[in-house]
Amino acid sequence: MTAAADRSPDTAAGLDEYTEADVHQEFGENPNEVRDTNHYHEEYIKGFVDKWDDYIGWEGRAASEGSFFIDQLSARGVEKVLDVATGTGFNSVQLLKAGFETVSADGSAEMLAKAFENGRQHGHVLRVVQADWRWLNRDVHGEYDAIICLGNSFTHLFNERDRRKALAEFYAMLKHDGVLILDQRNYDEILDHGFSSKHKYFYCGDTVTAEPEYIDDGLARFRYTFHDDGSVYHLNMFPLRKDYVRRLMREVGFQKIDTYGDFQESYGTESPDFWIHVAEKT
Ligand code: SAM
Repeated sequence: MTAAADRSPDTAAGLDEYTEADVHQEFGENPNEVRDTNHYHEEYIKGFVDKWDDYIGWEGRAASEGSFFIDQLSARGVEKVLDVATGTGFNSVQLLKAGFETVSADGSAEMLAKAFENGRQHGHVLRVVQADWRWLNRDVHGEYDAIICLGNSFTHLFNERDRRKALAEFYAMLKHDGVLILDQRNYDEILDHGFSSKHKYFYCGDTVTAEPEYIDDGLARFRYTFHDDGSVYHLNMFPLRKDYVRRLMREVGFQKIDTYGDFQESYGTESPDFWIHVAEKT
């Protein structure tokens, strides 16, 4: 066994357990040309998934979200929730803590494994299902009072057909009076005012810097730099405009759509970083 003093910092951090494929995202020669709905599988690789909680920071996120989602669900008498973008499990765990019957789905097996582990650490056994939104009804069973798709996840869909398909699948899995809660980054602000606005650094804590590296009408490419080990990862996302998402939801059949800015009902004058759409079926 290697004595602790003999281990290099990388070894001590466990980085030697990673293969090249765990830490190297494949974007090819022209990363800005990668605009593919299926590419999230190549982006959420093990190294990045293991760092994801450093980025979202469970405590800080719990503080900023407050009881917003729980209040929205409770006000509608929701009991059964499907989290379709579980990621590392933050929202699923909050829902379980609050007593909701929760199923945790995601298209990434890597993410679900991490979510399950995180659930255990918080004293819960997550019911996880690997499912891509475009074929949700094939892989997830039952009907739900609510579906949540949070953490700027819908942005991974790169063409309108996929967005319509995913929303239709969400709609079909909801009970007749069900609700979909879906959030998104405020891309209108970046598209209309560029990087030089106050939003240049979207999250710049002690440990992580997340910043846009490239943007046009069809791509928002973000770079995530982790200061503890210098690792760098990227996400290629589609910059969704707020009113476009609201229109798609309406066209798919949702009857009432309320959009909140940064968990506040009135947007105020400052432009929020996130929009949260609460879409009701009836
Ligand atoms: N909700 C989590 C959070 O807030 O930390 C995760 C957010 S992460 C930005 C986006 C998640 O959406 C990833 O876990 C990814 O695997 C999932 N995802 C992206 N596209 C998907 C698709 N087409 N079907 C299912 N899951 C998808």
